[in-house]
Amino acid sequence: MTETAETRPFEAQVQELLNLMIHSLYTEKEIFLRELVSNASDALDKLRFENLTQPDLGEGDEELAITLEVNADARTLSVIDNGIGMDRDELIANLGTIASSGTQRFLEEISANQGASAPDLIGQFGVGFYSSFMVAEEVSVVSRKAGEEDGYRWRSEADGNYTIEPAPGAKRGTCVTLLLSEREGDESETPDFLDEGTLRALVRRSSDFVEYPIRLGDDVLNSQKPLWARPKADLSDDDYREFYQHLTHDWHAPAETIHFKAEGASEFTALVYIPSARPANLFGGEAGRTQLSLYVRRVFITAECEDLLPPWLRFVRGVVEASDLPLNVSREILQANPHVRQIRRSLTKKILGSLESLRERDREAYDGVWNAFGTVLKEGICTGEDEDGRIAGLALFESSRASERTTLGEYVERMGEEQEAIWTLLGPDRATLDASPLVEPLRSRGWEVIYLTDPVDEWMVDRLSEFTGKPLRSVHAADLDLADEEGEERASAAAQASAGLLEALNEHLGEEVKEVRFSTRLVESPAVLVSEAGPPRPHLERALREGGMAPDLPGPERILELHPGHPLIERLCAMHAEAQDDPRLFDFADLLHGQALLAEGTTPRDPARFARLVTELMTTAP
Ligand code: ADP
Repeated sequence: MTETAETRPFEAQVQELLNLMIHSLYTEKEIFLRELVSNASDALDKLRFENLTQPDLGEGDEELAITLEVNADARTLSVIDNGIGMDRDELIANLGTIASSGTQRFLEEISANQGASAPDLIGQFGVGFYSSFMVAEEVSVVSRKAGEEDGYRWRSEADGNYTIEPAPGAKRGTCVTLLLSEREGDESETPDFLDEGTLRALVRRSSDFVEYPIRLGDDVLNSQKPLWARPKADLSDDDYREFYQHLTHDWHAPAETIHFKAEGASEFTALVYIPSARPANLFGGEAGRTQLSLYVRRVFITAECEDLLPPWLRFVRGVVEASDLPLNVSREILQANPHVRQIRRSLTKKILGSLESLRERDREAYDGVWNAFGTVLKEGICTGEDEDGRIAGLALFESSRASERTTLGEYVERMGEEQEAIWTLLGPDRATLDASPLVEPLRSRGWEVIYLTDPVDEWMVDRLSEFTGKPLRSVHAADLDLADEEGEERASAAAQASAGLLEALNEHLGEEVKEVRFSTRLVESPAVLVSEAGPPRPHLERALREGGMAPDLPGPERILELHPGHPLIERLCAMHAEAQDDPRLFDFADLLHGQALLAEGTTPRDPARFARLVTELMTTAP
């Protein structure tokens, strides 16, 4: 196969990004080195990981390392690794498009922060490989993928195109060579990246913990001491943050950093982070799985050890180094290993503790974490893993009380003595629930109602029956006994006086509801739907409807309750007393039923008829 250089255009977004880089006045251009070293280190990790199952890939026992090479005459700086490498397709996909997660997020962030200046974002974030163009007028990447014979060279001047051609004799791994731009203007602002002292200082500052030696000439520039193995007292916030960025490529600072060493039955060290922002793919793809790296006595085992954390903590990122595991651990061994289970238990406790402490310490930051990961945490309740109620205690809910969200603990503290249960109401959103007739009787007693508006809440309440000894009860329950004597008397008096009306309505609405009866609970609204089976599940119903499945509209098991003292109901009674077969009676009944459905966020079965009835009513209104 004879191949010559092929010139290809960059994806439009890439060129846009490159222009941003090139014209950026950002002063800390040195971040490019951290990014290239980090990519090299990832490539070495990948090779080492593949090597576990394909020992031939290593091609001899050459030391895995990162090498910096400077050619002052040619003004070039190279960052070389003997890691996994890239084949031709990967060079094109990784360095010519916006497929890389990091870059994608950067661009999203730029468009989300119209006002914020790109240089700031570049500095906080570092956009990986492309940041090379902040300091280089031309970048060339020679790479040969482990296990393959042919290498390729990718080259670009960031002028809209790049070229790709065969590179005979390329070594395994990747060599990124920057032809450095002449330094202009204020020389002191941009360091001289051809200067050995400069490189030495930069590597020490931002890549010291990289596990592979970073060589320059005969020297190794980094201590390679893994960050987690160093005493806490020696580490600064910046150290922890640099390492977090190295691990995650997330430029937001983590919400919590948890670093501890466990001694005793199972010895291990953990450095884990609770991110402050939700990654794009938390519910699917790679990030749908736990991403903790496992090391055993300094040897890297895997970057995705799923057994170290329950799935509902899969947003936690970091590293665990264990002493008591065999080095050749397979999936099956990990799963069954008692040390792994012990580590998982103690990590879970620490992380829950850290979330609890953040909740007490900094509610605003905690709010952000809950927004990002609350839904994932609640999965733990749904799967029955919240035996001690700690996840339930972390949850934030909307409630009828105020616009700030509340915890169940805070709710319980506010409960008066006469209130025995934690009242909850499922619904599509806060506004609908605030207007729900079901909340009226509780509100009139000064009792608060927890609003369950997250789709996962519908499953959560199946499991969560109590919190700190207080039962959770749904306001929807048909047997809800909130009546005072007066209410009961009024209801039974109305039932006696209007037995005929009730009978007629029951017959007319028989297909829609199980029963029509007078309510003992309503305060303001004329009617409400309650249920004997569990409460309706608005999100599930909507999903079924949108998925084209027959919506299981709250049907015959629902009970329509009428407010006996409401003028509208009084009017119905009067109409019925006057003429039992008044056709308006049944139109009104349909309207009442439709209204009660709408109040809980459900569309009436025949919306067109509902609309027509409302129009007629308005037209004939005096
Ligand atoms: P990110 O590192 O955030 O994914 P980059 O733009 O830095 O974004 O890199 C894009 C992709 O190119 C990487 O995800 C990786 O697959 C590949 N890559 C970059 N540098 C190397 C390297 N030295 N060796 C192997 N693959 C690399």
